[in-house]
Amino acid sequence: MNDRRSTSAMRITSHLCAVVVAAFFLYAAYGKIGSNNTRQFAVEIKNYKILPERYVNVPAIFMPWLEIVAAAALIFPRTRLAGAVLISAMLLVFIAAVGYSALYLGLDISCGCTGKDSGQAGWSTIGRNVALIVATLLSVWLFRHRFPIGNCQKCGYNLTSNVSGRCPECGNEQEQGEPLAASTSA
Ligand SMILES: [Zn+2]
Repeated sequence: MNDRRSTSAMRITSHLCAVVVAAFFLYAAYGKIGSNNTRQFAVEIKNYKILPERYVNVPAIFMPWLEIVAAAALIFPRTRLAGAVLISAMLLVFIAAVGYSALYLGLDISCGCTGKDSGQAGWSTIGRNVALIVATLLSVWLFRHRFPIGNCQKCGYNLTSNVSGRCPECGNEQEQGEPLAASTSA
């Protein structure tokens, strides 16, 4: 059976998707941190004509840090789902904002996503954000694929007849209630 190999391939793809999305978010956050960048980002948010001007500083200050937290959460498997929810929610908000201001109102504005080198807000911004959502969902969905029962859930090593509850290949302690080897239970 190729179960072990295909599950490993899915895990690797999941990690790759998570790393690509997280790297983009970290890069985007980096371009918006620092007093000059924050001021610039506040102007870009104002240009969207969605938030009243007196409120634009709030997202200008907090958005980059939220992006960093979400990116970090996405990278680690234990917090990947929470990170994916945060990132998808942010991307949906960004898509809605670009759709409203650039497409519906027809404003000629910078998207502001990555700070100074941001492109023009428009269909390309939306396309990129949709691609990021797809990669984010893949990072969660592919990681949910389990190794067959009786195999280590971390590396896929066959644990039939293993009684220690610890994988000899990777040292992973098997989760409580995870059937190790159905055949050994009396
Ligand atoms: Zn293992």
